[in-house]
Amino acid sequence: MPRINEHYLNLQASYLFAEVKRRTQAFREAHPDARVISLGIGDVTRPLPPAVVHALEEAAREQGRAETLKGYGPYVGYDFLRAEIAAHDFGSRGVDVAVDEIFVSDGGKSDSANLQEIFATDCVVALMDPVYPVYADSNVIAGRSGRADASGRYAGFTYLPCTAENDFLPALPDRRVDLIYLCYPNNPTGAVMTREALQRWVDYARAHEATILYDAAYEAYIRDADVPHSIYEIAGAREVAIECRSFSKSAGFTGLRLAYTVVPREAHGRTARGEPVSLNTLWLRRTSTKSNGAPYIVQKAAAAVYTPDGLKQVRTLIDYYMENAAIIRDGLMAAGLTVYGGHNAPYLWVRTPAGLSSWEFFDKLLTDAHVVGMPGSGFGPSGEGYFRLTAFGSREQTEEAVARISARL
Ligand code: PLP
Repeated sequence: MPRINEHYLNLQASYLFAEVKRRTQAFREAHPDARVISLGIGDVTRPLPPAVVHALEEAAREQGRAETLKGYGPYVGYDFLRAEIAAHDFGSRGVDVAVDEIFVSDGGKSDSANLQEIFATDCVVALMDPVYPVYADSNVIAGRSGRADASGRYAGFTYLPCTAENDFLPALPDRRVDLIYLCYPNNPTGAVMTREALQRWVDYARAHEATILYDAAYEAYIRDADVPHSIYEIAGAREVAIECRSFSKSAGFTGLRLAYTVVPREAHGRTARGEPVSLNTLWLRRTSTKSNGAPYIVQKAAAAVYTPDGLKQVRTLIDYYMENAAIIRDGLMAAGLTVYGGHNAPYLWVRTPAGLSSWEFFDKLLTDAHVVGMPGSGFGPSGEGYFRLTAFGSREQTEEAVARISARL
């Protein structure tokens, strides 16, 4: 028998989603007449924008004719899409990103999980707490974590607590770190980082020769003018930051699958002997070795997002979810709860009422209001005492969930 990668055994069981599912299922079985509303999982519910559907149909027809059939495409994505991304997502904000710095992929989850591969195993990783679990787990598998303690913390990681006390903006690390995962707008807290705060991180990374892996999957939800949409709006970021984006939550592509990562030409790592190596070249090498690119049809659909109709329709989609966010925020605050997020993000981060842990509040809402959310402690120890609700439900379900919670607190 071949030996396995034993780092996999250091992963903690996917407790959060499994346990939420188990408790919800048990409740449904005990109360078959209850209409349970889920505002827990962060998946979209609105249909794809018509411009996207039209592009999918056209591209499918192209694939149905020998003259227009597209086989294997470029590993890194078609230039027709990369050019739209460069112009609309960056150029329109005065940020220069070149087409060959954009790597199109089938998802932000895989990009954020895979980026660590181009760095050495002994790199020290800094993670926000609470955190999107993919950053942690991919580094556990790579052997950077060691074992978890009883609270679920890995000795090998540097945790950056994000709580109401620091406005969910972590303090700079107090020990040397090499890779820093930042996610803004944040999942799960719904917090955003101001330009000044992000500048401090870029300055820190430059001073300490660290690289920031910046996850901007929820960038489309930013409303406030002083919140940067891209880390490259910050002076000096091109040397020290890689940015991931996704079409999942902006244009509803969670099922279609499309995302991209920007690796600027100025970004470098080093060999053991100290020679600089381009991260763009490494990521290109890794991508071309392991992927044959995202589907042509889906890239055509993504390009349709940047047409005048597509832009308008995506804006309508996001406005819909953000109205849900306002309904949840205003409703729960009126009911006396303390609510964070929801202004520039589709997530609401709710303080559990005094004396209730995250899981106790989960049980209370499920039992009394038949509403499912996510216990904050499942995203990390600093999430204890919080609860996540998403704005991705239908309007009707969102309104009803808020009414039920408010009536039963
Ligand atoms: N990054 C964050 C912070 C997310 O919350 C998610 C999805 O929930 C993703 C990335 C994954 O996006 P994708 O659907 O492109 O894999």
